[in-house]
Amino acid sequence: LKLTVLGVGSASPQVDKNPSAFLLSIDNEYILIDCGEGTQYRLLENAIKVSRIKTICISHLHGDHYFGLIGLLSSFNLKGRKDSIALIGPEGLLEILNIQFAAANTKLNYELNFILNRNSEGKVLLDRIRFKIESIPLVHRVQSTGFLVTEKEGDRHIKAHKLPENFPIPFYKKLKDGKDVIDPLTEEVFKAKELTKKGTPKKVFAYCSDTAYYPEIVPIVKGANLMYHEATFLKDLEERAEMTQHSTALQAAMIAKASKVKKLLLGHLSSRYKSSDEHILEAKESFENVEMAIEGAVYDII
Ligand SMILES: [Zn+2]
Ligand SMILES: [Zn+2]
Repeated sequence: LKLTVLGVGSASPQVDKNPSAFLLSIDNEYILIDCGEGTQYRLLENAIKVSRIKTICISHLHGDHYFGLIGLLSSFNLKGRKDSIALIGPEGLLEILNIQFAAANTKLNYELNFILNRNSEGKVLLDRIRFKIESIPLVHRVQSTGFLVTEKEGDRHIKAHKLPENFPIPFYKKLKDGKDVIDPLTEEVFKAKELTKKGTPKKVFAYCSDTAYYPEIVPIVKGANLMYHEATFLKDLEERAEMTQHSTALQAAMIAKASKVKKLLLGHLSSRYKSSDEHILEAKESFENVEMAIEGAVYDII
């Protein structure tokens, strides 16, 4: 599980930042989380094979989180994409896209499977063989939802040297699932515990998009390997954070500490801040393993 940061800016445009966009890779598949203006150019710059994007998650309908979506979806069409896309987003998103497609007389040559996200607590939005995506309800001026992406534990590894020659293939599958196998002819028992070892452990990434300080999410994000949390303001502007329903760096760190995540990434700083140093200093008052999310950087989720 790897995270590529494509954009960490906030609502006001800045020369040296792009609006929100994050790319998770699981095996050979990508999940795009938020799609601010220009995201398709960031994908090009980072040499991302866009055909591998199978899932797109949109946190909320403020422009800095989805104005790049119509461009990206239209470009998929131009390039003749055939593979379907699962699009997770709030009420209204599909209608907006449909108006834009209709006005341009665009007929998609791929399937756009829309999954409506109603901000319900910890709901599973998508469940695939290798990963699942759950919602993290947030508090913002419009419905806003974070995403908890869990890479599932890998199959158990077979200790092949301990198995007899010509061991039947269907028995392998059973052992990998952790089940014992009894040979029907010899009644010999092959114990999964002895003949296999644990697969790769599950990994969790928590994406907490625009939100006021909201400790109710702690049980949902608990123990995540990596958490991204917005930190629009510093604590001296806590009142402004509350008014605009954003968080301070300290509040983001308090969520990270309470939920015992392994590492915290901050982003979405207000354009009033020219440096992120103070955000990091402030966050470290509560949580040590914190970094600013850097555009173009790739983070291994371990
Ligand atoms: Zn925003
Ligand atoms: Zn917002």
